Amino acid sequence: MTTPAVFDGHNDVLLQLYRAGGVSKADVFLTGRKGALDAEKAKQGGFGGGFFAVYVPSPVDLEFKFEEMTKPAYDLPLPEPIDWEDALPVAMTQVAILLELERKGALKVCRSAADIRACLDSGKMAAIFHIEGAEAIDPDLHTLDVLHAAGLRSIGPVWSRSTIFGHGVPFRYPSSPDIGDGLTDQGLRLVKRCNELRIMLDLSHLNEKGFWDVARHSDAPLVATHSNAHAICPHSRNLTDDQLKAIAESDGMVGLNFAVAFLREDGKMLADVPLTQMLRHLDHLIGILGEDRVGLGSDYDGAVVPEEVTTVAGLPRLREAMIQHGYTEQLVKKLCHENWLRVLEKTWGA
Ligand code: ZN
Repeated sequence: MTTPAVFDGHNDVLLQLYRAGGVSKADVFLTGRKGALDAEKAKQGGFGGGFFAVYVPSPVDLEFKFEEMTKPAYDLPLPEPIDWEDALPVAMTQVAILLELERKGALKVCRSAADIRACLDSGKMAAIFHIEGAEAIDPDLHTLDVLHAAGLRSIGPVWSRSTIFGHGVPFRYPSSPDIGDGLTDQGLRLVKRCNELRIMLDLSHLNEKGFWDVARHSDAPLVATHSNAHAICPHSRNLTDDQLKAIAESDGMVGLNFAVAFLREDGKMLADVPLTQMLRHLDHLIGILGEDRVGLGSDYDGAVVPEEVTTVAGLPRLREAMIQHGYTEQLVKKLCHENWLRVLEKTWGA
């Protein structure tokens, strides 16, 4: 494996495998699939693992969405909320795909930072069971307790669509992330229970009010798994300098999102983005968060990404660009996986 291995804050491969036929078709992860992430490409690129998102899709046309996002300014309406009864079976199928991949030996579902470290040492792919948008969690949080027992270690209260727990940012450019109300009372209870269970809370799709609600109520480091710098790309999904300062104060971290609409200054979902644009965001993030609080959060299999890193097989190019840019080998290692391990140890306990 290419060193240092990349441990990554976000991918949507479970959603893609769900769409491609579910558990019985999950084998393509091992035999090779069209898409950004599979076992073979991971080996080529030194992809050591990451957060595997369970995400319940809305009936929206992704092509339409990405087409809209090539315009100079856009404001995409958010889809309707999804009820727990409808979300749960979809989420369960994606968890079943994750467990099937573990059964087939493609990866290990990690429950501790030590698990991840052991995987990175042995070359086994490390997966965190993550939920993006808590539609599959009931108001009494019973599902949260059950899924935690099944390995859930990280959750975003919302994907951008509203849930009973809070509200996210619509995909709007240019725009402040300060759009709409924050967490609901149920959302505050979710924060408390996640703190008790030591499930990591992901701030990436929350709007600004929701972000500050978590900042006020959570006792864990603040983490945005896949978000970029608003100062460089003024997209509703990116983090303002004030948000970054709060993350730094909590000793949390941010994973750099590869989605081109959140990288480019013009906010367009167009893939001709040089790696130097990713480094501009990294420089800005490191400038406020410090070298110990920045990592990667690719959004692979969920977004249009820069041409040179279309799949995980291209990750060595990004590592090379970091070195060319003047980052020390020690810093590159921190960005590639050490910082994720640090923050997860802190959040989950040793
Ligand atoms: Zn996302």
